[in-house]
Amino acid sequence: MSKIDWSKLTFSYTKTNTILKTTFRDGAWTPVESLTDDYLSISSFSGALHYAIECFEGLKAFRGKDGRIRLFRPEENALRLRRSAEYLGIEAPSVEMFVDLCKRAVMENIEFVPPFEEAGASLYIRPTLIGTNPQLGVQSSKESTFLILCSPVGAYVGGALDAVDVVIARNYDRAAPNGSGSYKVGGNYACSLRSLNIAHELGYKAVLYLDPATKTHIDEFNSSNFFAIKGNSYITPKSESILPSITNKSLEQVAAHLGMQVERRPVPVEELSTFDEVGECGTAVVITPVHKLVDKPFLESDQETVYTFGDGQCGPKSLKLYNYIKAIQRGEIEDIFNWNVFVD
Ligand SMILES: *Cc1c(COP(=O)(O)O)cnc(C)c1O
Repeated sequence: MSKIDWSKLTFSYTKTNTILKTTFRDGAWTPVESLTDDYLSISSFSGALHYAIECFEGLKAFRGKDGRIRLFRPEENALRLRRSAEYLGIEAPSVEMFVDLCKRAVMENIEFVPPFEEAGASLYIRPTLIGTNPQLGVQSSKESTFLILCSPVGAYVGGALDAVDVVIARNYDRAAPNGSGSYKVGGNYACSLRSLNIAHELGYKAVLYLDPATKTHIDEFNSSNFFAIKGNSYITPKSESILPSITNKSLEQVAAHLGMQVERRPVPVEELSTFDEVGECGTAVVITPVHKLVDKPFLESDQETVYTFGDGQCGPKSLKLYNYIKAIQRGEIEDIFNWNVFVD
């Protein structure tokens, strides 16, 4: 293996030693295989390829100050994958099997876990579940294939905690009312690509979607949750079409622990002008501060309302929350919530 320059890693794919694969067929999971080739052999008639029968997870392994490797809240990812799979009507691994296989994937790729000193880097784990039996009719797949993929990653976009500009595109939605918005399925991402591509061309890093039924309240970004700080309050939207982010849930717990008020409630768009700090949150970077938030009735037109937060740096309250979560993940402070699961 060539030496990795940890400091140059971005959120992109670097091939590792193995991927894990097991298939649920005829009522049981096949023995787990460690494949050195990352190209899969599956039926070209797999439901995943035609009807988006696919769901996935994302979590990270960190090397702590004590040299040991930790997974951050993997049972939560396992439960969420099971919820997504149930929505798609396909078989999913148990929580125990999910966590055990994440540990095994890390052990088989241990030289790709960055050293403690590389604070921005980690081993990203991507558990993926796809419907794989040959089918033409529209129905949930009887056979599902579970994969654990991993790749060493650095900061998601630019550096961690670099503030970004984002856009509300009122003429697009990522989810439907009563649709799949709260499930981690690939189809939601396909639905967000058109608006995201246009937003990228216009220089925005992400799209912030409003609630699809009334377009009056804030939902979430294309791949991360929304939070705001107002005075001593941590505010995050409550909506049926939001993906339940484990990072957001953790930030709420930390905020409460640090004496902040936590409000999970509908957030009207008009409230944006009253916020001190706004950010995206998710596994990839924990927190990405938002500098400018531009509300456009039509993404393709010039009409817009601009909200600005802070001076382009991460705000003080967001930074405090970020530092607390990172310190737990890196084993620098006591894990009072019992979030870390040791791999070795
Ligand atoms: C995965 C995801 C998130 C972030 O969830 P975490 O558990 O914090 O990584 C937020 N929004 C969407 C749409 C997602 O798919």
